[in-house]
Amino acid sequence: MSEGVKLVCADCGQANRVPAAKLASGPKCGVCGARLIDGSVKALDAKTLSKLTKTDDLPLLVDFWAPWCGPCRMMAPEFAKAAKALAPHARLAKIDTQENPEAAQRYGIRGIPALILFHKGREVARLAGARPAADIEAFVRSKVKVPA
Ligand SMILES: [Zn+2]
Repeated sequence: MSEGVKLVCADCGQANRVPAAKLASGPKCGVCGARLIDGSVKALDAKTLSKLTKTDDLPLLVDFWAPWCGPCRMMAPEFAKAAKALAPHARLAKIDTQENPEAAQRYGIRGIPALILFHKGREVARLAGARPAADIEAFVRSKVKVPA
């Protein structure tokens, strides 16, 4: 398949196609130049979240959080570690539910932090509460096929 892997840019919302062989070398968005997948946690808003969940070919794990939530802040470095461990096979992103209440509402988020795993345009699974990096990584690996 020469079509490549579809990834929406978390920064500008542009859909990009990346050759599978180039996923590991920090591919950049053709429009804004932001890195599409580099093991970092991307910050989304409601609009980019919706685009990524619909379009991305790679598994996408989203952390619904808020600045006032202590457990969310405690989990952030663990989530970042998991993002590094799972790159370039899955993308990890976060959305601030205080700034994007419509996203929290849309997905029926009752408590945060809440993790939702998306793949191939649909929700695959959820994980509630703050977790260590190893648990987050194991959760993704147990739900979708991710090369070791
Ligand atoms: Zn972009």
